[in-house]
Amino acid sequence: MQPSIFNKVVPLAGRDDIFLMNTFTDAQLVVSRDVVDLLDRVGTTPNLAGTLDDTERSALRDLIEHGFIVKDRATEQKALNRFFHDVREDTSELRLTLLTTLQCNFACDYCFQGDHGDYNLRAEKMSMATAHRLCEWLEMKLDELGSSQFSLTFFGGEPLLNQPVMFETAERLWRATQDRGVEMRTNVITNGLLLTPEVVDRLEPFGLDGFKITLDGDPQTHDRMRPLRGGQGTFDRIIENVRRVAHRCNITVGGNFDEDTVDSYPALLDFLAAQDFADSLVQVSFKPIVREKPTTLPPGVIPLTAVGGDNKPLGGTCMSSAGSGAGSACDSCNLLDTKMSYLREETKKRGFATMDGVHMGPCDIHRRHAYTVGPDGSLYACPGFTGQPTAATGHINGELEEHHRRAAADFDSLAAWKSCGDCAFIPVCAGGCSVAAHSELGTMHKPSCHKESMESALVSFAEEAATQM
Ligand code: SF4
Ligand code: SF4
Repeated sequence: MQPSIFNKVVPLAGRDDIFLMNTFTDAQLVVSRDVVDLLDRVGTTPNLAGTLDDTERSALRDLIEHGFIVKDRATEQKALNRFFHDVREDTSELRLTLLTTLQCNFACDYCFQGDHGDYNLRAEKMSMATAHRLCEWLEMKLDELGSSQFSLTFFGGEPLLNQPVMFETAERLWRATQDRGVEMRTNVITNGLLLTPEVVDRLEPFGLDGFKITLDGDPQTHDRMRPLRGGQGTFDRIIENVRRVAHRCNITVGGNFDEDTVDSYPALLDFLAAQDFADSLVQVSFKPIVREKPTTLPPGVIPLTAVGGDNKPLGGTCMSSAGSGAGSACDSCNLLDTKMSYLREETKKRGFATMDGVHMGPCDIHRRHAYTVGPDGSLYACPGFTGQPTAATGHINGELEEHHRRAAADFDSLAAWKSCGDCAFIPVCAGGCSVAAHSELGTMHKPSCHKESMESALVSFAEEAATQM
C-alpha cells in the first residue's frame, strides 16, 4: 500500500484540522493531524497494520475507501489511463458546439478572427442547407451512440448574426432528442448585443438553459476592448439586454483580462452587484486572454498563432467567448497566473458563484463525442481550433480526406498530461488547455501549466469546503 499521488493536504487557517482531497476520486475530508501522520506512515512503516490501535485502523480503512491509499503506483497509473480512456470514449452525453457564423459585429482588439479590416468579407455563415445536413448527421450520431443527454452550444463569431440557422437547428434537434427520450440543453455564447426577449422566446421551447455574455472590465474598459466595428461602445446596450431577459433564463458573465485591464474588474463586479438582475447571474468567471509567445508585433496587438502555422490569420472561433460559462464547451479555459486567484476572490466577495479553479478538466478536447462544427460543416476537436482547415478532423457529409485523418490522429494522441510526472492535479487538469499550449508553446502536445494558480485556488476551495462539512 502507498498514499495516492493525487492526494492534496491543505492546513486550514486558524484551526488544527487539515483538509485532505484526492483529485482522482474527488474525496474531500477534514481530518486531524494524526490522520495525516498516519497517511505519511503508509508505505514507509514495515508491518504498519500491526502497530495500529482500533481508531487508527478505522481511519486507515476510511482512507483506503476514499482512494487516499492505493495498492501501488502501477495500479494507480493504470486506473488513470483507464480514466482518460473512459472520458474519451464516453457516450452518455453527446455535445455539439455549433458555429453558426464566423462573422462578428464587434471589433475586439485581441480577437484573432482576423477579419477586422475587411468587414466579414471572408467570414463564413452556415447556410440553411448545411444546417439541415448537420441535423441529419446529429440524428445519426444520437442513434449510433445511444446517448441519454445532448448539449447544444451556439457559438461563433457572433452566433446571433445567423438566427435562422440557430432557431431551425434548435427546433429540429429538440424534436430529434424528444423522439429518442434524450435530455437536451441549449446554451448560447454571445457578445450580448443582439440578445432580446424575442430570441429567448424562440429558444425557450427547445431546452434553453442559458446565455453566456462577455464583459471585459468596467464600462470604459469594456467599451475600449469590445467596441462595435464603427468604434462605438457596447457596454450599456449589453447590460440593458441582460436586464430584459435575466428573469427568464440563466445568464453567465465571462470576461477576458490582461495586465492592463485586470484592475478594472473589481469596478465591474461592483457594478454587477448593484444591478436589479444580480441575483439572476448564475456564474461570473474571468479568464486571461490567450497570448502567443513574444513576437515583434507592435504593442496593442495580441497575436495568436494560426493553427496551421501558415501565417494566415485564423478565420475561426472567437476565443474571447470561449471559456467558463453557460455550460459551454470551454469551461476550462480560465487557467492562468495569480490574477486569476485575485479575481476569483473578488468575485466571491460580491456573492457571485464562480469557477472553483480546481475542477478544470478534462475539457472537451479529451472527449471524442464533443464535436465542434464550423459554418461549412467541418468537424473540429474543440472550438479553439476552428476555422483552420488543417485542424478539421472530418466533415458532417462523411468526407474523410488525408488531412482529416492526420488531424484526427493528432488529436487522438493528445495526452499532454503524460509529461506532468506525479502532479496531483492531473485528473482535474489533464495538462491544461491545448489551445493555450499551441499558442504559447507552439505545440498542443505540451502541458500548458498553471499549477501555481491551481494551488492557490485549492487553498480557497479547501477553506470553503471545510465550512460546509
Ligand atoms: S483545449 Fe482549451 S479551448 Fe479547447 S476545449 Fe479545452 S480548454 Fe477549451
Ligand atoms: S499542466 Fe501543470 S498543473 Fe496541470 S497536470 Fe500538468 S503539471 Fe499539473
